[in-house]
Amino acid sequence: MKKSDIVKALILILAVVLNVKTIKSMHTDQAKISPDRAKISGKPIASFHKFWADVKWMLFIQHMGSIDLTTEKNSKDLYEEAKGILELDPGFYKVYELSALMLSAKTPDLAIDLLKKGQETHQNKNDWRLFSMAGNIRHQETFFNKKVNKKEKLREAIGFYRLALKKPGVMPVLEKTYIKTRAQFEFEGNDKRPLIIAELTEWSKYVTNKMAGSEYGMEGDGDMMMSLEENTKADILSIIQQVKRQHPNDLEGKKTSQKMLNSLFKGIHVCGKCYNEYAAGHKFCTECRNPVKVYGVCPNRQCGKVHSGGKFCEHCGTNLRASVNKKKK
Ligand SMILES: [Zn+2]
Ligand SMILES: [Zn+2]
Repeated sequence: MKKSDIVKALILILAVVLNVKTIKSMHTDQAKISPDRAKISGKPIASFHKFWADVKWMLFIQHMGSIDLTTEKNSKDLYEEAKGILELDPGFYKVYELSALMLSAKTPDLAIDLLKKGQETHQNKNDWRLFSMAGNIRHQETFFNKKVNKKEKLREAIGFYRLALKKPGVMPVLEKTYIKTRAQFEFEGNDKRPLIIAELTEWSKYVTNKMAGSEYGMEGDGDMMMSLEENTKADILSIIQQVKRQHPNDLEGKKTSQKMLNSLFKGIHVCGKCYNEYAAGHKFCTECRNPVKVYGVCPNRQCGKVHSGGKFCEHCGTNLRASVNKKKK
């Protein structure tokens, strides 16, 4: 007997003992807990399914550690093994995740196939990770495989990312990946238009859509823009600055930058020359020394200090609201 066979036999004995104990209670709850179970193989092992899937999973991990996944044959074997576990327990998230990861290098299509199966299960259909992972695998192929049709792979990746972004709890950083991939898609075969401009345009479309709530199924009114992470906003501003530095005369770049500065960045003050954000009281841009329009200082000339924006200046007591009104008249 091989060592792995002994392990299998021991685990099976353990499984039987434990299973007898729990079989009664499990059986009634099973349909409620896991509607996916209805879809699976009809082997007459009743509530052994889940347990046996766990056992196979342990063996699967052991096996994976011992084989060379750079051969297509091994990859295919591993795929079949994973499918075997998933037939017993289609909701087993870890199997999708780990197998897809292992299969992605040599047999990305098999990895995608598994992930798609997972995306259709009741338990995982709202798990954004299975969708973003599929996107990543397709995206990755455009870097590592020179033979692939890049446009096609990017289109697929975009589709997966878009689905992921509609799922609950999705990580905001995925927005960036999604936009970069879209820009790459536009750039592919049309490389006269700078990639960074394509990226900015994609951001602009995304933000507009998000505000309108059309594509992303979110509410249109209120502070939709606030749902963009501060980090993401900082990234967009940095793209606007790069466009200004690298392609100052690009019409599309200029127009899109202005549009976003007037909407998404309406609340902040930026230097007119380099689009660097500047603080209250600053007279010159700290990036490019361009003079900037001062804001946020007390209108009382004897004071003139930066105030914190309340009703009265905290340095001299001047009524800040009154002076704003006076200026307007
Ligand atoms: Zn500046
Ligand atoms: Zn003051």
